[in-house]
Amino acid sequence: MVRVLFLGGLGRSGTTLLERLLGQLAGVSPLGEVVHLWQRDLVDDERCGCGDRFSACGFWQKVGVEAFGGWDAVDPRRVHELAAAVERTRHIPRLALGRKPKGLDEYAGYYSKVYSAAAAVTGATAVVDSSKHSALAYCLRHAPGIDLRVVHVVRDSRGVAYSWTKKVMRPEAETDEEMTRYSPSRSALLWNAHNASFGLLGRLGVPVLRIRYEELLADPVATLRNLATFADLPEAAHEMSFLRATDDGYVADLGPSHSAAGNPMRFTIGTVPLRRDEAWRRSLPKGQRRLVGALTAPLLSAYGYRFGGTT
Ligand SMILES: [Zn+2]
Repeated sequence: MVRVLFLGGLGRSGTTLLERLLGQLAGVSPLGEVVHLWQRDLVDDERCGCGDRFSACGFWQKVGVEAFGGWDAVDPRRVHELAAAVERTRHIPRLALGRKPKGLDEYAGYYSKVYSAAAAVTGATAVVDSSKHSALAYCLRHAPGIDLRVVHVVRDSRGVAYSWTKKVMRPEAETDEEMTRYSPSRSALLWNAHNASFGLLGRLGVPVLRIRYEELLADPVATLRNLATFADLPEAAHEMSFLRATDDGYVADLGPSHSAAGNPMRFTIGTVPLRRDEAWRRSLPKGQRRLVGALTAPLLSAYGYRFGGTT
């Protein structure tokens, strides 16, 4: 059994930052967004978090040999075909009822092999997949050989919506490619759907720990200790000397990682200040802020966020 910490939630909720912090803990091997490995790494040979191209990264080459006898043995078209057939948000109700669509075992098997190989290569107690997609978490729920534990990361829907309006480039693509952008109302609806499906996953018996982005940044030590307990990490994981309290909040010393795919923050190494990104409070126009607040009100309040009036 390989222990997998799956980081779930809507994008721009802080999952990449959380994965970077978890990666500093003893016994943890962060893999990035494995859902994108098949295209961005196997086909496009984009850069690993360590800076090398996927095909030149020693870690991922070892994982490929351990998992499949080499990446050449994997046909990315087959993985895409399976993903299109089973890993779809519209299949969640069916997956939730425990019905396995055709191809599910084969699809989940690819992930299972990658996780087990990464754990074997690194000797880690747990691997982290920050793929975020709830449909993938539902697929992995029945996968043999995976001890799945889901960390559901939520962030204030208005902060998420503002972030999706901004222009972010993808440095690893080395073209002028931008990350996707969404309108605030579109983000709000996606925020509801993704967060609700992780809530349902927890009610189906999968261990799900919900953490708030804002709490992670306010008290990273307490949040990460809670996560270390949730993941049954070794005692040494509770030692967090890479986090330092300063007069101006915490800073984290981040070492390199072998994140296969994800947002540009996966390349950052060195000392990083841990500050909440609250730009939306100033920069998201009031009308849009109210619209997003209204569309996401039930879950916002269930998660303990304050909203309404002028906030
Ligand atoms: Zn690497």
